[in-house]
Amino acid sequence: MRLFFSPEQLAHRPTQYGVHGRLIRPLENPERGETLIASLGRLGIEPERPAPIDRAAILAVHADHYVEFLESAFARFQALPNAGPEVLPNVHPYFSGATQLGARPRPRTTGILGQAGWYIGDLSCAMTEGTFGAALASAATAAAAAQAVLDGAPAAYALSRPPGHHAYPDRANGFCFFNNAAIAAQLLRGRYKRVAIIDFDTHHGDGSQAIFYDRDDVFVGSTHTDPSSYYPHFFGYAEERGVDAGEGFNLNLPLAPGTGDAAFVAAVGTLADAVSRFGAEALVISAGWDAHRDDPLSKLAVTTAAYPSLGRLLRGVNLPTVVVQEGGYSLAAVAEAAPAFVAAFQEG
Ligand code: ZN
Repeated sequence: MRLFFSPEQLAHRPTQYGVHGRLIRPLENPERGETLIASLGRLGIEPERPAPIDRAAILAVHADHYVEFLESAFARFQALPNAGPEVLPNVHPYFSGATQLGARPRPRTTGILGQAGWYIGDLSCAMTEGTFGAALASAATAAAAAQAVLDGAPAAYALSRPPGHHAYPDRANGFCFFNNAAIAAQLLRGRYKRVAIIDFDTHHGDGSQAIFYDRDDVFVGSTHTDPSSYYPHFFGYAEERGVDAGEGFNLNLPLAPGTGDAAFVAAVGTLADAVSRFGAEALVISAGWDAHRDDPLSKLAVTTAAYPSLGRLLRGVNLPTVVVQEGGYSLAAVAEAAPAFVAAFQEG
């Protein structure tokens, strides 16, 4: 499996993350990337640097005014009187026209505070001076992995961070700015008529779901912790099956807290079967390692032993595959789970 990683991604180093009423140090940190590089290096896999991304690949799934906001936000925020170190919203709009698709217009407000509330969904997306460049590099990493597969590689791993599956067409959420998996899937659509995303991060991939919710050419399947008392709270329920042309092309398999290896692997097996029935010609895997019981965010009881099973199972789908890094916040668990998955995938 080819591996892509851009060191420019490490420039995103926020110091604040709001959770349970406190601002703490973010769990999504640069050490995650370094840990993954080292752990995959034990398999003899060396990272390749991605080429800069063509912005058109980002604009294929994100609104232009959202990208303009991300690019300008830090400098504009710093001009505020008594500005803090990072862009963080302190207003949140009620927008009655909001849809699952996230297809909102530009906000009426032109000020940075109102726009931060419009475009940043929660307190996990603090933006530093280096955030926009790191998010671009993260998207470039996913695009390079997709291009490698388009060029004939059977599989490629995009070691993207910040991650992407919570990013909507026009909104940052859950540590995510650009939806790397969606960018990869859309690039694969340039050649393949039907592309599928399978997401086994412990959080529902609400951004990926939103981007493709009304489309029948990209199937999105996700298994994750039941969102009724877990991030992302508002989406990820089993009855969300897609709309219009996309009806029936979105599949959510929420898992109860405490779910262990057997049911977790079985859920991914159900997603794999659905992808085969869909007739996918290429696969994007949103790979988060945060279902692991040692992860600080996990409510599941998944162990390292589940990940080789996922690797074999997803190789068995037998499609050109782009693996895109999503969550995973225990460095020890990530260092075990990722190489276990990749080794089994390669053998399978
Ligand atoms: Zn996650």
